[in-house]
Amino acid sequence: MIQITNSNMAVTAIARDVPELAAWIRGRSRSALREMVSLASRADLISLAGGLPDPALFPTRDYARALAESLASDGAALQYRPSFEPLKRQVAELMAERGAPCHADQILLTTGAQQAITIAVSLLLERRGRVVVEDVTYAGLAEAIAPFRPEVLTVRTDLSSGMDVDAVARLAADGLRPAFVYAIPDGHNPCGVTMSLAKRRQLVNVARRHQIPIVEDDPYGLLSYGAAPLPPLRALDQDWVFYLGTFSKTIAPALRLGWMVLPADLVGRAQIVKEAGDLESSSLTQRAVSAYLDTGRFQAHIRALREVYRLRRDTLLKALETHFPPAARWTCPESGFFVWVELPPDIDCTTLLDAAIQEERVAFVPGEVFAMGAQRASNAMRLSFATCASDAIEEGVRRLSRLLARRIPRD
Ligand code: PMP
Repeated sequence: MIQITNSNMAVTAIARDVPELAAWIRGRSRSALREMVSLASRADLISLAGGLPDPALFPTRDYARALAESLASDGAALQYRPSFEPLKRQVAELMAERGAPCHADQILLTTGAQQAITIAVSLLLERRGRVVVEDVTYAGLAEAIAPFRPEVLTVRTDLSSGMDVDAVARLAADGLRPAFVYAIPDGHNPCGVTMSLAKRRQLVNVARRHQIPIVEDDPYGLLSYGAAPLPPLRALDQDWVFYLGTFSKTIAPALRLGWMVLPADLVGRAQIVKEAGDLESSSLTQRAVSAYLDTGRFQAHIRALREVYRLRRDTLLKALETHFPPAARWTCPESGFFVWVELPPDIDCTTLLDAAIQEERVAFVPGEVFAMGAQRASNAMRLSFATCASDAIEEGVRRLSRLLARRIPRD
């Protein structure tokens, strides 16, 4: 026991034995994901930070009705229950609309895409195994693999055509058999890039030839803004692609409802992994979402979302064009929520964020949050056009450009 006293007051601190934590978590105390969500939720800022869908666009009234009906019509809606089979069939229909038809028995309903990621990781990755990821990628993947203390092999992302699949092919040819390759071919988070069709075909071919599973994370696939969305990887291969979907971006994140599409003979094992996490996703939510889908209003809702988000994307791109310094470069997303902006190498966006909040009341996510392995992305920022209405997006970019003008000389 240690006694710490000061002159006014005796303070007794008991130095107790503390539980020894597992090695992978010992050195960590901050969650980038949580910080992003709190930053994105601050009312005193214009936030271009989080990947939070605009709550004004949630189908709250329709969902409330579906929820009330589910409670009223099913006495056991609040009970422990197995997955709701009708919802699996509805998800299979959605997959067909997404361009990747599948059978209901290939679907596992999950608690969001994040749980689907952790299930895929648990199914495929051994402790200290190897994974292939892009050198900037979704931060939630890094959290899911961390307990396995894996060897992370990174490949670059081309900002117009996506993952460097040649690099994946080289790693595979060198015999470095990873447990899986993680890809976000549509609406890439954070880069907002769409993987080209040629690369999709090539990646699936590499996976087949070298027997490497691909984890295809597709939260944004239904939110595409162009005329002809490309087929997901799952449409090109049914054996090696584990597809992950979610209702978070198209209905609402608080449902915590997503799904995986797997080879049918793996669904039972995926279910075992899921049960270890949460036994089952909310049976009430499954029924309510199914009842909402039954109304037939989801398709019109998606069309409306596409329209709104496309306009916001255009507003953001136009504002960047008008206000940002000529030295900046950014992506033009065809789906999803995000634009990735690269600034001159001497601009550190992590410190810039503090200044952005203090001096201009505007927020973004610094690129470093998404950097994997030895990669640095300190001169990059991710801007989201999902949460704010167009006038706030424009004002946010104006504020950011004022901040940058004080740091980057215009030539
Ligand atoms: N994957 C990616 C690429 C994401 O952007 C997100 C959400 N930001 C998720 C997974 C997690 O989604 P969910 O809310 O369905 O868990």
